[in-house]
Amino acid sequence: MKPPPLKDDCFAMPPGVDWTPVDRALDMLRSGLHCVTKAEDIATGDAGGRILAEDVKAARSNPPYANSAVDGYGFAFDDLPSGDVCELPLTAGRSAAGGAFEGIVPAGTALRILTGARVPSGVDTVVLEEDCSIADGRIAFRSGLKRGANTRAAGEDVVADAPIFKAGHVLRSQDLALLAATGVSQVSVRHRLRVGVVSTGDEVVSVGEPATDSQIFDANRPMLLDAIAQWGFEAVDLGHVADDPARVEAALSQGAAQADAILTSGGASAGDEDHVSAVLSAKGDVQTWRIAVKPGRPLALALWDGVPVFGLPGNPVAALVCTLVFARPALCLLAGAAWQEPAGFDVPAAFAKNKKAGRREYLRARVRNGAAEVFKSEGSGRISGLSWAEGLVELGDDAQVVAEGDPVRFYPFGSFGL
Ligand code: AMP
Ligand code: MG
Repeated sequence: MKPPPLKDDCFAMPPGVDWTPVDRALDMLRSGLHCVTKAEDIATGDAGGRILAEDVKAARSNPPYANSAVDGYGFAFDDLPSGDVCELPLTAGRSAAGGAFEGIVPAGTALRILTGARVPSGVDTVVLEEDCSIADGRIAFRSGLKRGANTRAAGEDVVADAPIFKAGHVLRSQDLALLAATGVSQVSVRHRLRVGVVSTGDEVVSVGEPATDSQIFDANRPMLLDAIAQWGFEAVDLGHVADDPARVEAALSQGAAQADAILTSGGASAGDEDHVSAVLSAKGDVQTWRIAVKPGRPLALALWDGVPVFGLPGNPVAALVCTLVFARPALCLLAGAAWQEPAGFDVPAAFAKNKKAGRREYLRARVRNGAAEVFKSEGSGRISGLSWAEGLVELGDDAQVVAEGDPVRFYPFGSFGL
């Protein structure tokens, strides 16, 4: 017998195989997938986390009327007396938020006005109360104010009918404030995308069930179901199936009937018991399953009964990285959202590493003292590293020698919506 030389790198890219670069796989997803969800009208207050189905315009200006930005005294700028000190008699009454002054403030006089109160007729400028002396029904303050000082013009933020959101925008808490402020009480949003999750593997049992010494608990399913819920999708638990082609097929068919997309984990490689890739290749429509990413390979992208399937690797670290990098943007497109690029930023590395060419790498990382630390082990079975980490460092496809202090791209988990 003449065995081959030791590779001692389970992530080495086998020669003679065309590995799909990460960017090409992402382009394929981006161009190949489209929105599959219907639209519905819901109340603005219920729309957090939902995806807009239509562009939205302001129903009303913000602010709807000119109002005071401070507690003070309002007057007409053009009628101010000249000189270093302006002295004005006070008009009786006041304008308060929710209790506007209905009359006209006579020229050459000032009116008490409070923050948020409508600026009454005859007033275009407000002086801060702290800048005034007040005695005998008169105020005095130093000259030098600008016309319109301390007021907010009607529509200075948003004018009625102006576009405020585009279809595909995922509504965040702060967006509900803008919708409400501009009088939009209902929005047309996409139905929640239904995403099925199934785990595979003879060795895998659900946590809480009895496990023998040679079984492991299913870490992927709770992680993936929760991520899906966090992204505002409807998680469909398709359970766990053994490494058996008939059961894998049945689970995929059940998933295709109940969900708009399916995430499987495990069995996606080309091993003897890798039935997900085998079944998808035999009876599904496999787009690619060799993506040059670590951790990750294998990752099968396929269709089953027309429903996109992400055949994720079994290792939880690889399963999460592939979900964040590939499945999430794809699911967002299917759900009707715009393509999502995670927001990353360059920080100095607090580590050194020699990276090989030909694959993109993601390291579990966190930022401390302004530099990116990486987890002590790159082993993709080290689930504790996912909890240790606060994001991922991305190293590009080419070979790279990272020295301490070199800039590296860090993506906080938050930029993947987790
Ligand atoms: P596979 O992709 O099926 O070859 O699995 C790769 C590794 O991930 C093996 O060590 C599996 O035991 C492990 N694994 C597979 N599925 C799960 C899961 N749901 N939870 C935790 N580990 C898993
Ligand atoms: Mg397996």
